[in-house]
Amino acid sequence: MHLLEQHGGFDQHRPAGWILPSHFMIAESTTASLVLRATEAFPSNGSRQANLRYKHPHITIEDRGLRPLRPDHVRLQMLRVGVCGTDLHMTQRDEQGFLRCSAPAHIPAEGRVLGHEGIGRVIGVGADVGAFRVGDILAPESVLSCSVCRSCRSGCFNQCQKAVLLGMEQDGLFSTIADVPARSTVNISELGQTDQGLQMAACLEPAGVALLCGMNTRITPGDKVLIFGAGPIGLLCAIVARQVYGASSVAMVEPSPYRRQFAGRWADQAASSADELTTPAHGWDVVIEASGDLSNINRVFRQIAACGRVALLGRGGQPLTIDAVDHMITNAISVMGLRGHLGGVYERLIELCLSGHLPLDSIITTTLEGLDKLQIVLSQPDVVASTDCKIVVKLAD
Ligand SMILES: [Zn+2]
Ligand SMILES: [Zn+2]
Repeated sequence: MHLLEQHGGFDQHRPAGWILPSHFMIAESTTASLVLRATEAFPSNGSRQANLRYKHPHITIEDRGLRPLRPDHVRLQMLRVGVCGTDLHMTQRDEQGFLRCSAPAHIPAEGRVLGHEGIGRVIGVGADVGAFRVGDILAPESVLSCSVCRSCRSGCFNQCQKAVLLGMEQDGLFSTIADVPARSTVNISELGQTDQGLQMAACLEPAGVALLCGMNTRITPGDKVLIFGAGPIGLLCAIVARQVYGASSVAMVEPSPYRRQFAGRWADQAASSADELTTPAHGWDVVIEASGDLSNINRVFRQIAACGRVALLGRGGQPLTIDAVDHMITNAISVMGLRGHLGGVYERLIELCLSGHLPLDSIITTTLEGLDKLQIVLSQPDVVASTDCKIVVKLAD
């Protein structure tokens, strides 16, 4: 059903040339969503992020009625959504049938709509939103920060103490229509003019993690970078290290033969184990762990150069062990954890994509059509690593 209905007054002070007044919306009554449900939840003594355990996680596709659009939200017709490793973990169970995922998630009784990477076209604008209009193409950020806590006030939005993760703690983007807070979205209309631009924009969220990783590890022209994991995040780290920060070489460790071979375009060396790599004479300047296996760090720690930087991106849930502490102190090696992509990272990525410096779409190995195909992929999480890198789902043109 596509009817136009007025959803507020026309603001005569807005710029001329708009096709529709901003508060008009295209009325839809339902959305099809990919929903994660869990049959039981058991309280545990974990942290805020892990105070519930979920049993028998399973995904369904459901038609849901749309709630009235909140005044500070925009309503998006989703165009492309990306499948993240976290989405794949959200369907995996341990031996007792509990959800096996160390990322924070809250699955209410009515289920949780997954998906935190994607782009959509505005079909409705909340009454308090002045920045966007119907027809704009927006990319929601996946970390919804509060903007008032101590971290936010210090500019550390990724570390917001009240952060809500889209698609994990709030309904996400695996929907034909999704409502998102306007202040956590970025206008990508210019990039979204072509199909290739839409594909690139669908990768902005994981690329933001990679760009931020390069900033925080201070990858410097000529640096030699070692990356564990050639999934989407690891591969984007490789692309960004080369194209943006000027790394002179990138080595990757990846057990999946498919992903190892696919990474060959961006990696000077790609091996199934760090032992098979040729270590640079002065050592690795930067080591990035994007596989979730923290034991990798201990394995190569003595090969890290003076003033080397180590970034942990993958969550494996196990402790980090470093035996070579003397090497760490003597060589002033820093180890950091990182998450998120806030703080103006999307805007920088969009400029790099528009200028042709960052072919983000080169990580996409499969583009699926529709939520049905996505449901099949999510039900076979182990298959993805052996046959794919980045999977994008096309929901509309
Ligand atoms: Zn993700
Ligand atoms: Zn905050």
